[in-house]
Amino acid sequence: MSPSASETQRAGPSETVALRDVRFRYDGATEDALRVDAFTVDAGEHVFVRGPSGCGKTTLLSLIAGVLVASDGVVRLQGREWASLSSSARDHLRAEHIGYIFQQFNLLPYLSVLDNVLLPCRFSPTRAKRAGGSNGAVAARAQALLAQMGLGPEYARRQASALSVGQQQRVAAARALIGQPELVIADEPTSALDESVRESFMRVLLAACAEARSALVFVSHDPRLAQRFARQVDLPSLNRAPAAPTEVAEV
Ligand code: ADP
Ligand code: MG
Repeated sequence: MSPSASETQRAGPSETVALRDVRFRYDGATEDALRVDAFTVDAGEHVFVRGPSGCGKTTLLSLIAGVLVASDGVVRLQGREWASLSSSARDHLRAEHIGYIFQQFNLLPYLSVLDNVLLPCRFSPTRAKRAGGSNGAVAARAQALLAQMGLGPEYARRQASALSVGQQQRVAAARALIGQPELVIADEPTSALDESVRESFMRVLLAACAEARSALVFVSHDPRLAQRFARQVDLPSLNRAPAAPTEVAEV
């Protein structure tokens, strides 16, 4: 489905993400999990979103990616309002434009490492083309991303479930980056990485997003990572939902 003319006109030329007067409540909950008056991310912009556990970070990312649809208000990706799209149109739009590193990785455990990284290119012709087009070129690109993440060719054919949690996190990052999506979303992507791996992971992720001119919305409760980002957002200040914690709780 295409956006209405008015929706398209309201999107700024460089706007990748826009939230206006958004409210979201989970089914069965008595309070909203998220209330955000305004939040935008420009094309190519890298944003660090911080906040304690339970403050709505994953909910915000799910709304940005159209995994959840706002109970009220407007959430747009590149000028298209998620709520105006069917569920399959949302899946298509997400596959084409968003690389998502989920908090729980969401790798397909029975597929190989390489096939997991190749998945976005199966679902998105745009990303397959940007990753090289032919099967061989796309596979080489996937291997190169895995290598940048410190996973050499010996990992490619292993089943994803046979990797350590930290290795799976890096496979999830390679999968998000392949095919240069306009938006990369990272939900606590360094939680299972030790310090030395975390350093190189951050370097590779930020450099890959910069090179591809991907906007990056990076969520963490780890303030040490914030300094790498030109823009930092404190979600408890942004989220006016009454249930959202304002004190640092458990991680
Ligand atoms: P964070 O990612 O910052 O830890 P979440 O976005 O996961 O926070 O959660 C925000 C709030 O929404 C919390 O109060 C949480 O308990 C609640 N919540 C999260 N997921 C669900 C769900 N599927 N059903 C009901 N409530 C949920
Ligand atoms: Mg979370």
